[in-house]
Amino acid sequence: MNEPLHTGVGMTSMRTRQRLVERLRSNGIDDEAVLEVIERTPRHLFLDEALSHRAYEDTPLPIGHNQTISQPYIVALMTQLVGASKKPVKRVLDIGTGCGYQTAVLSQLVDWVFTIERIESLSGDAQARLQALHYKNISYRVGDGYAGWANKAPFDGIIVAAAPEAVPEALVQQLAVGGKLIIPVGSSTQQQLQLIERTQNGFVQEVVTDAHFVPLVSDEESL
Ligand code: SAH
Repeated sequence: MNEPLHTGVGMTSMRTRQRLVERLRSNGIDDEAVLEVIERTPRHLFLDEALSHRAYEDTPLPIGHNQTISQPYIVALMTQLVGASKKPVKRVLDIGTGCGYQTAVLSQLVDWVFTIERIESLSGDAQARLQALHYKNISYRVGDGYAGWANKAPFDGIIVAAAPEAVPEALVQQLAVGGKLIIPVGSSTQQQLQLIERTQNGFVQEVVTDAHFVPLVSDEESL
């Protein structure tokens, strides 16, 4: 690749990225810090070269292993909802690393990102890619996101990029008071994105919107 990593040409140019940001803005993303990070994150470098010309379309795209890179709108929405640009949000758990795009976005807004992926080769590729792009404040783990990351808890925020049928209890337990869990919940055909906040007095749950994520696979169930 001859082009500088963060600029791009043609379909990956700054102009193309600005168009994506305008689209996200008109769809209700209003956190300027999040929009700025989306604009400067080179999404085309998280995709196979054959798909990189579509990187700034607001659509999910395949990344192999039957998995997808999330739609930019969803990444922006989850990042905004978890409050990543707000000061008290310092440590965020990111479940379903995939190609690492959501991880990269978070790492530019918070102090530290802890990311878990169950497919070893996706995790390894994401780590190599994010290190090459100089995103440093990230810890990687290959494992089952259902269990969260207990010895790094509590987290100020947890973002889940795959849908379980019910909210995993371990995840809500790993939230700090004031922390938020953003998670799609439901079957493969019908899901809702939920926001669960831990308050002094317990948990407050809210449905944000309908969602279409890949399933959160339980390794125990598939044994
Ligand atoms: N965050 C990615 C989205 C990847 S798609 C992005 O920015 O585009 C969701 C990912 O969740 C897939 O890579 C899938 O392998 C992973 N996944 C599914 N079930 C999981 C589980 N139980 N634990 C950890 N990762 C899981």
